[in-house]
Amino acid sequence: MNIFYYDVAVSLPLRQCFTYSSDIKIKKGTRVLVSFGKRKLVGVVVKNSKKPNSLKNTGALKKIISILDDYPLFDKSIFDSILWASDYYHHPIGEVFNNFIPTDLRKINNKKIEKVEEVDNYSVNEDNKQFELTKDQEKAVKKLSKFEGFLPSLLYGVTGSGKTEVYLRLAEKCIKSNKSVLILVPEINLTPQLLSRFENRFNGEIGIYHSKQTAAKRLKTWLKAKFGAIKIIVGTRSSALIPLSNIGLIIIDEEHDQSFRQSEGFKFSARDLSIKRAQMAEIPIILGSATPSLQTLRLVKESKFQRVDILSRVDGNKPPKLIVLDINNSPLNGGIALETIDVIQSTIERNEQVLVFINRRGFAPLYQCGGCGWVAGCKSCDTNLVFHQSKNRLICHRCESAYSVNVNCPACNAKDFHMHGVGTERVEEVLKKSFAGTPVIRVDHDSTKKIGAMEAIVNKIHSSDAAILVGTQMIAKGHDFPKVTLSIILNADNGLISPESNALEKISQLLIQVSGRAGRNNNLAKVIIQTRYPDDINLNKIKTGDYMNFASQCLSNNRKMNLPPYTPLCLLRCSSPTQKSNIDFLNKAVHTLTNRPGINVIGPLPSLVSKAKGSYRHQVYIHASKKTYLNKVLKFLTEEFEKWPESKKVRWSFDLDPIDLG
Ligand code: ADP
Ligand code: ZN
Ligand code: ZN
Repeated sequence: MNIFYYDVAVSLPLRQCFTYSSDIKIKKGTRVLVSFGKRKLVGVVVKNSKKPNSLKNTGALKKIISILDDYPLFDKSIFDSILWASDYYHHPIGEVFNNFIPTDLRKINNKKIEKVEEVDNYSVNEDNKQFELTKDQEKAVKKLSKFEGFLPSLLYGVTGSGKTEVYLRLAEKCIKSNKSVLILVPEINLTPQLLSRFENRFNGEIGIYHSKQTAAKRLKTWLKAKFGAIKIIVGTRSSALIPLSNIGLIIIDEEHDQSFRQSEGFKFSARDLSIKRAQMAEIPIILGSATPSLQTLRLVKESKFQRVDILSRVDGNKPPKLIVLDINNSPLNGGIALETIDVIQSTIERNEQVLVFINRRGFAPLYQCGGCGWVAGCKSCDTNLVFHQSKNRLICHRCESAYSVNVNCPACNAKDFHMHGVGTERVEEVLKKSFAGTPVIRVDHDSTKKIGAMEAIVNKIHSSDAAILVGTQMIAKGHDFPKVTLSIILNADNGLISPESNALEKISQLLIQVSGRAGRNNNLAKVIIQTRYPDDINLNKIKTGDYMNFASQCLSNNRKMNLPPYTPLCLLRCSSPTQKSNIDFLNKAVHTLTNRPGINVIGPLPSLVSKAKGSYRHQVYIHASKKTYLNKVLKFLTEEFEKWPESKKVRWSFDLDPIDLG
C-alpha cells in the first residue's frame, strides 16, 4: 500500500504546517480532519510532503482522520494567493486560510462542500439601459474591455462621472462570454445604490457577501459562486478570495477606501490581495476612484498600471467650488458658524438639500466636571467617553462599553458637569432647532446599525425635497444624492495638522469625496470648509479641487522624504496587560535590528490609543530600503521571537503597509 505525506495547515496561530500521512491521494486545498494534541481540528492540505526523517524507522506519524470534502476549497490561483498572503504579511497560515473559508466550513460539523447546479438564466436587462454612454465612458469601456491576461488598471473618474455604469458594461461583457465578475466595495450596507444597480441591470442572482451576514447565508452564496450558479458577486474585503467559477474580472470600487484594510487579527489589504489574485488568475483588475491612493498612483507612474480617465461629469456640470471659511472670529453653535447657517438657509429655501459632514458620532466627545476638571474615561481603554444623547449613555468608541451618565463627580462629588466638543447628534439638534420643519437626517454608525436602516435613510433622502443630511464619513462614500447642492465640512483641521505621514492623503481624499456629493445636476453647487487655518498651504491646494495634482505633489514629497509608498513600512505592534512586558519585548526587538544597514527603527512608543480593552499597546516602526529586504528582516524577526521568553508575555503582530499609523 502506498502511503502519502501531506503538510496540513490547522486553524491555530502557528507559523508552520504539520505533516500527516494518509493512504489516499488528496488534492491540495482539500479540508481534512486531523488530531492535534488531544484535539481534533479541521485542517487544509497545503502540499505533498516527504516522509519526515525522524520517522524513517518508527513510521509513527499521525494519520489524517478523514477527508471532509470531495472538492478542494479553492482553485490554484486563490490557493496560491493565500500562500502569498501568509508569506507577505508574515501571518500564521491556518489563520489566513480561515479568513477566506466560510465560518461553517471551519468547524467540525456536518457541513461540507456540496455541488450546486449551475444556472444559465443570466442575462442583461436591456430596458435598464436608459441613457447613452458619455464619450469618456465609451472610451473607458473600450479600453478596459480587453479581458485577456493580467492587466491592472486605475479607472480615475471624478465624482459623478458615471463609473458604476462603466462597471456595469464591463460586467455585461464578462457575462456574455460566460465569465464571472467580482466587485469589491468598501462597506456594502452603506452603498445600497451600487448593489441595486447591478440587480436592476442583470437578470439572475447577484451574490452578496460580507461579514455581517449569517454564516448559513454566506456558505450558500460561497457554494453557489464556486459552482457557477452565481456569476456576479458584490462583496466587502472578506469576499476578496471568494471562489468564483471562471472568474473574468475583478473590480475594486473606491479603491482608496480604508475599509479594504483589515486592521484586527490578520492585517491585510483586500486591494493588494485582489491584485495578487488577479495576477495568479491572469485576469484584469480595475481599481476605480475619484481620489486614488498614492500607492496606486505610484504604480501608474511606474507604468505597472494603465490609467483610464473619466474627466467629465455625466451631467456636464463642473465640480462644485470649494470655499474656505475662516472660523477664528465666528461664534459657533454646535460647531456651525453663523455664516454657514445663512448659506444653509438660502439653500433649503431653494428646495435643495445640504450635507453636513462631521467626523464624530455621538453628542459631545468630552464630559467633564466643572468643579475639579475630572473627565469621564473608559475603564479599560485610554479614551474619553463620548456622551450619546439618543441613548443617554457615555460610550467608549474604542470598545463600545456603555456607562450610565454620572450625576455626581466621582472625584469631588460636585453635580456640575459640562460637555465639550461636537458630534453628529449635537449638530443634528442645533440644525433641528434652527430649521424647524425641514427634515434633518442623521447618517452615522448609530443611525444605520439595524439591517435595512441605511436603505431607509437613502430612500428618505431621495423622496425629500429640502433636507439637511448630517453624517460621518459614511455619508461621503460613493453615494449619489442629486438634490444636494451644498456640502459643509465642519472641521477639517485635525486632518490638516496631524503628524501622521499619510494624513494629507486621507484628508484630501475625504474633502474631495465629501464635495463630490454636492452639485450633481447643478452648476451653482458649493462646498464650505470651516477651518481655523485658512492659510494652510495644503488646504489651499486641495481647495482647487484638483486631487490628481495635489496627490502628485504628495507623491514626489514622499519620495524625497523616504516615506510610503516609496519606502516600505512595517509596524511591529504589541499588547499585554503590563507596560513592562511590552517595553521589554520591543526593546529587545529594536536591539536586534540596530546597526543593520538599510533598516531604520523608531520606538518603542505607546500607540495613539495606549490602552484598549484592558491591554497596554506599544509599537515600533520599521522602515527598510526595499520591500524584499524588509520581508527578509521580518522573517528573521519572526524566527527570533519564537525563541524569546519575552514574546510569550505579549501579543505581537506585524502591520505591513499600515494605514493607521498611531
Ligand atoms: P460615480 O460613481 O462616478 O460618482 P455614478 O456611477 O454614481 O457616478 O453616476 C452618477 C449618476 O449618473 C447615476 O445616477 C447614473 O445613473 C447616472 N449616469 C451614469 N452614466 C450616465 C450617462 N451616460 N448619461 C446619463 N446619466 C448617467
Ligand atoms: Zn469633580
Ligand atoms: Zn473602552
